[in-house]
This record gives sequence, C-alpha cells and structure tokens, in this order.
Amino acid sequence: MVVDAATDPAQAENGRLPNRVREEGFFAPVRGSLAAIIVLSVLGAASSVVPLIAIVELARELVPALSGQPIHAGRVWAIVIVAVIALFVSFGTAFGAGAVGHFADAGLQLALRRRIIRHLQRLPLGWFDQRSSGTVRKLVENDVVALHQLVAHAIQDVLTAIAVPVLSLAYLFSVQWQLAVAALVPLAITAATYPLMMRGGAEKYRQYDEATAALSGATIEFVHGIAVVKRFGQVGRSHRRYQEETRRYVGFVDRWTRDTSTAFTIIELVTSPVVVLAWLLAAGAWLVNAGAVTPIDVLPGILLGLGLTGPLMKLGSSAQFLRNATKAQQSLAEFFALPTMPQPASPRHPAGHQVALDTVSFSYDGQHRVLREIAAACAPGTLTALVGPSGSGKSTLAKLIPRFYDVETGTVTIGGTDVRSIDPAELYHAVGFVFQDVQLLRASLADNIRLARPQATDTEVETAARAAQIHDRILRLPRGYDSVVGEDANLSGGEAQRVTIARALLADAPILVLDEATAFADPDSESAIQTALSTLAADRTVLVIAHRLHTITHADQILVLADGRIAERGTHADLVTAGGLFARMWTDYQANHARSLPEGVQR
Ligand code: ADP
Repeated sequence: MVVDAATDPAQAENGRLPNRVREEGFFAPVRGSLAAIIVLSVLGAASSVVPLIAIVELARELVPALSGQPIHAGRVWAIVIVAVIALFVSFGTAFGAGAVGHFADAGLQLALRRRIIRHLQRLPLGWFDQRSSGTVRKLVENDVVALHQLVAHAIQDVLTAIAVPVLSLAYLFSVQWQLAVAALVPLAITAATYPLMMRGGAEKYRQYDEATAALSGATIEFVHGIAVVKRFGQVGRSHRRYQEETRRYVGFVDRWTRDTSTAFTIIELVTSPVVVLAWLLAAGAWLVNAGAVTPIDVLPGILLGLGLTGPLMKLGSSAQFLRNATKAQQSLAEFFALPTMPQPASPRHPAGHQVALDTVSFSYDGQHRVLREIAAACAPGTLTALVGPSGSGKSTLAKLIPRFYDVETGTVTIGGTDVRSIDPAELYHAVGFVFQDVQLLRASLADNIRLARPQATDTEVETAARAAQIHDRILRLPRGYDSVVGEDANLSGGEAQRVTIARALLADAPILVLDEATAFADPDSESAIQTALSTLAADRTVLVIAHRLHTITHADQILVLADGRIAERGTHADLVTAGGLFARMWTDYQANHARSLPEGVQR
C-alpha cells in the first residue's frame, strides 16, 4: 500500500502542514532563547542609559560645590555605585544576549540543517537531477546563515536601537522638556526624510536583486564562453550580454543613488555626532540666554541627546539583515513544502529480481507524455538494451526502476512487487545504477568504491576496480587507492565514471541499470568493460541504455524506443532482419562508425 505524502507521519512531523510550512515552525526550537534575548536586550539598553543619567546627577551634586556649597557625600556615593552597577549590568546583559543569541542560533542551525537533510532524503531522486548542488548549498549554507544574522544579531540590535532612544527621551522629558524637544529635532527630521529615501523601496530592492542575479548569470556565461571568444577571435553573444547586464546594473544603481542621494545626505548630516552636538549646544545656549534653564540643566540634553541617533543608524543594517532573513525563510519554507516521495506504509519484499513494466506512462509536467504504454520484462541473468533516438525516453524509462520518479499510470515491479511498495533502502540495495552525472566524494578512491559496502575488504575493492578497468589507473596515482578525489586523485570524466562502475559492481546489486555512455566512456577499455558486463549479466538483471549499437549485438533483448513508445523489440539479429527502425539505425551506425571501432570489436 502506498500512503499519500499528506498523511505521511514523517512529513506531518516536519511542520504539520505539508504544503505550507508555518513560519513559527522555524523558530519553535529556540522560542525560549528568543524571549531571553528580548528581556536581556531591553535590560541592557536600560542599564546603558543609567550611567549617563548618573553623570548628570553627579554634576548636579558637584557643580554647586564649586561655589562652596556642601557636598552630600552619601548621595554622591550612591550615584557612583548605581552607575558602576548599571555599567556592569549593561556589559553583562549585552554579553548575555549575545551568548544566548549565538547558542540559540547554533541550535536553530542544527535543527534546520537536520530538517533539511531529512527532507532531502525523502525527496524523489529526480529532484536532484534537475537541480545543481548549488541549490542545495544555498539552502544549507546561505539561507540558514541568513537566519543567523536575525537570531544572533538583529533582534538585539533592533531592540537596543529602539529602547535606548525611548528611555533617554523619557528621562529627558521628565527633567527638562525644552532640551528634550531640541534633542527630538534630528530624530523628527530623520523620521520625515527616511520614508522619502525608501519610497518604493520594496520594488527597488526586488529590482536590485534581479539586476544582481542577471549580472552574476551573465558573468558566469561570459567566463564559460571565454574559450570560444578566444578561439573565434570575436566578441560573442555572452560577451555582449555581460556588457549589457553590467550597463543595466550600473545604470540601476546610478539612478537609485541619484533618487535617494538628497534624502540620504540630509539623514547623514542631521544624525552625525558633530552636527547633533552643535545643534544641542546652540539650543542650550539659547535657552540659558533666554533664562529658561540654568547651564547645568543643559547637560542631560547634550549627554543623552548625543546618544539618540547612533543606535538608530544600526537599524539601517538590521533592516537589510531582516530582509535577507525573510527571503531565506521564504525559500526554506518553499523547500520544506516540496512533496516528498510517498513511502510505503507496510513495505513488501520483492520475490526475485525480474524487472517488469506494465502499461507505464509518464510525464514530467503532467501534460506532455514522455513514456506511453510501455510494457516490458527483463529477466534475471539477461541483458536488456534500450536504444532509440535522443529524447525518445530511454533515460526516463531507466530512472523509473530505482524510483527517480514515480509512474503516472501503470506499474514498475521488481520480483512482482510494485517499486512503490518496497522500502527505499531495500530498493536501492536491489538496484544499482550508474547514470551520466558522476558523483565522487572527497574521500579516498577505496572509500569511494566501497561506498555502498563499507565493510568490503581491500581485495574486493581491487577486484571491482579491475572489472571496471580502473585498477591500473588507480595504481599510477601517487597514493594508489588511498589517493583522495580532488586532492591527489584528479581523474578524467571517463576515469571517474569507471570508479562509479566499480562502486556499482562492488555494491553487488542484483539489478544493474546503466548508461552506456558512462560505461564505455573510454574506447580503449570499451571491450574489456563489455566483457565484465557480460560476466555480470550471468546472474543479474542488467538494463543498459545503449548509444553504440555494436556493443549490444549480444543483448538478450533490445527495446527500440521512439517518441516514448516501444516501437520494436527483439534480438539484434531479429531486428536487423525485420528491416524496421532498428535496421535503419544499424545501417546508419555502421556507415558512420565503422572506421572508429576499436580493433577486435565485432561488427
Ligand atoms: P533519451 O534518454 O532517450 O535521450 P530522455 O528520457 O532523457 O530521452 O528524455 C525524454 C524526454 O523527456 C525529452 O523530451 C526530454 O526533453 C524530456 N525530459 C528529460 N528529463 C526531463 C526533466 N528532468 N524534466 C522535464 N523533461 C525532461
């Protein structure tokens, strides 16, 4: 029985809503820490204002002493002690909020990464076919790190930026309202100008992201195309696109800068400490001259007024972090909403290794059928070759067996059991596959080969490597089987492919699906691998996507695909005699390839 993704308990655990991940779901593991960050940040902001107030109060006590009035020593000490305690509290809470934030962030990243991995494991393998590793990397690294800025920094910064001015102004208004009003002026100008600067900001940021993405795309295309440009000695399409995108990007940034420059300059001016100080001094002097306040009353306005705009400026960068975090949250939510591969509720074991397709139809997009009404059976101990023009559906058909995708109608069975009812782990054990995109890990070649059977002995690894015609090449590497891929084992595409063949051979799966372009990448070892494959086929079910027709003259059956249907089937001799599509392909093939066949290969 196959369960629906919506009722899959594992998926339900992921976020309860399979198609729409609730946002608070991300932060659930760190909710307590977020509350602690909020409390500590506000406490820290409040205690950072206290020492400034203490200076003002000390001045009020000590300045009159200059004209001979008595000092209230007890009160002076009380102020000093409160100031010192507040200072320590402010340092302590800032450190505490930072520490809690970073611990919470580490916890959140761990929880998110585990969830990403769990979800990746449940996605259909076909999803990875269509995506570069860059997409996964962006999720695991960039998006998770964008949330780091939010949890570890932005919350504390934003709360401090709001709490410090609010508390300072509250104190100022309570002791000296005229200067409090004066201190408000730069803030009011900023508040009035900021919306002007940010007018259409959301759209502008969208355009900015678009222009940046287009420019990086064009840059990559340009770099890839450099060889072509050099070879043909002319400026190609990619170069023109790069120039255009650069012009577009520069033009956009130029216009954006011009549009916002006046408002930006005003904000920079009115919030700069020198301007604020000059303004507060002037306002204070005017008030003293007018007899509204005494000189000592000007002090709180200047001390606290100066500290109002600094934290506010941090809001700008925090806003950028928040925007990035929101985008990251969105792309993570979209990722978690991807439907996972339905898992069998009560898995069944295949009885044997006969592969059968029964009236199988499939489309990638639900509209255009890529495979139609396919019916075929591949018996254990036989080799089945899939041939047909490019785009006829060979790879798609092969990928249905290890469940890269699920059929739209019909069934794919192994040993009489629908592949959808087999536990995925058992399915991957039963079906070994080697397709075109070769994946080697940054590990030793021996470990790469024994990936599916970590307990395999060195002799077994070597035997598999010999059969895949890669043993001699590995021995020529500086550290032989211990050479690490990407470090001291730099293999060609064909050699890397043969390592993956050795891996599949060692995995010893009773069913082997492989792309011949992979298997016979290197003409020198072509016939040797072919021999290895025929030995393999002795007790396995082997399905080969064949491109070079001379390699499958001995296949037990050849399925000729055309436009998603099986147009012909039979042995090489049958099909040549029948004089249909395969016979024409064979004649063309012989005409085109006769001269390039390696010696000793049967024509
Ligand atoms: P073959 O292996 O015979 O060259 P494929 O199975 O790769 O053919 O492709 C069959 C058809 O399916 C082609 O039209 C191809 O464009 C389309 N196709 C292949 N892979 C995908 C995919 N991941 N998404 C959408 N369409 C695809």
